[in-house]
Amino acid sequence: MSSTHDQPLPPSGAVNLSALDERGVGQIVQSLGWPRYRTGQVLRWLYRRGVRTIDQMTDLSLTERRTLQTLATVRRITACQVFRSTDHTRKLVLTLEDGLNVEAVLIPDNDRLTLCVSSQVGCTLDCGFCLTGTMGLTRNLKPHEIVEQVLTAHEHLDKGERITNLVFMGMGEPLANLDSLSDAIRRLTNQTWGLKWSPRRITVSTAGLASRLKDVAPLGVNLAISLNATTEEQRARLMPVANGLASLKTLLAACRRYPLPPNRRLTFEYVLLAGVNDGRDDAQRLVKLLRGLSCKVNLIPFNEFPGNSFRRPLDQEVLAFQAILKRACIDTFIRKSRGRDVLGACGQLGTLLSHQPEPALTQIQPRC
Ligand code: SAH
Repeated sequence: MSSTHDQPLPPSGAVNLSALDERGVGQIVQSLGWPRYRTGQVLRWLYRRGVRTIDQMTDLSLTERRTLQTLATVRRITACQVFRSTDHTRKLVLTLEDGLNVEAVLIPDNDRLTLCVSSQVGCTLDCGFCLTGTMGLTRNLKPHEIVEQVLTAHEHLDKGERITNLVFMGMGEPLANLDSLSDAIRRLTNQTWGLKWSPRRITVSTAGLASRLKDVAPLGVNLAISLNATTEEQRARLMPVANGLASLKTLLAACRRYPLPPNRRLTFEYVLLAGVNDGRDDAQRLVKLLRGLSCKVNLIPFNEFPGNSFRRPLDQEVLAFQAILKRACIDTFIRKSRGRDVLGACGQLGTLLSHQPEPALTQIQPRC
């Protein structure tokens, strides 16, 4: 590595500032004998400005930057492939330090630009309709690898664009990586030095780790639960690991106990699989299960992928299902299919090979 300013090279194994939380940066600042306010300064550079080098931290003197460089470095992700759809949806494939890939998807929709982020490489769970589930779990993402997806997405925005919503609906089960998830959300929402995100614009989606739902509440973010079935048997068949951790009954009881702040509601996601869980009886059971809960429902018509025998229901079936919920006064939205030119649909992140047919993208339908 060559240096343009004769700066000392960081020692090998130098601390990666991006990987540190407030305490970690504070310790470095303290070890250098610097005043405490330097911690906030460094953190603001890392998160607010998303710098890639210590040299860019220009409110530190040149000497201070050199001193910091003897101990630490900024190792952001450099390898990011962007797959751009004709409808401006963009899938970002980021290569992590250990060479593994993780995916995030930017989804524009009228006044919204949603970023869908991953929480694991692969997934702990084995939901039968999800391609990521077939990969197994390779590893949990670290907090900075989650934040990195947001910082990198910022660098790939078109002129005038701003990310308005953040959803943890990419690869992985966020609640199976709760410590990293919480740490990342704290960095994203910190108003002093962090990315200043409002927690109200962040949604964490879980396949239903009931005992951990309560740990989401203190983060102030929205909670989405992937229900996907209306009987214990059906859920056990479709989502064996998730249902083994918590039955439908236990999960719904945890939802009822969830300390929802005023004017907020839970979101239930329901993947519609033709002839499996998309019948009128399913819709009627769903109405009963959700009775009394402050919630809305997102219906996700199944995104087909090679090697999987589930089928996407016809539009009329999806609409009939929606109508039953709406008649019961449950706000119900349909995520509809979009372009076919990048691979970014729900449950399809991860492993499709380039020679395989490309599935459709989905997106939440503009409000109905
Ligand atoms: N593990 C988390 C988040 C990742 S999946 C969870 O289960 O919520 C995000 C959403 O995509 C979930 O609601 C899931 O049920 C849905 N999904 C998974 N595979 C799908 C597929 N092939 N077609 C449509 N939706 C799918």
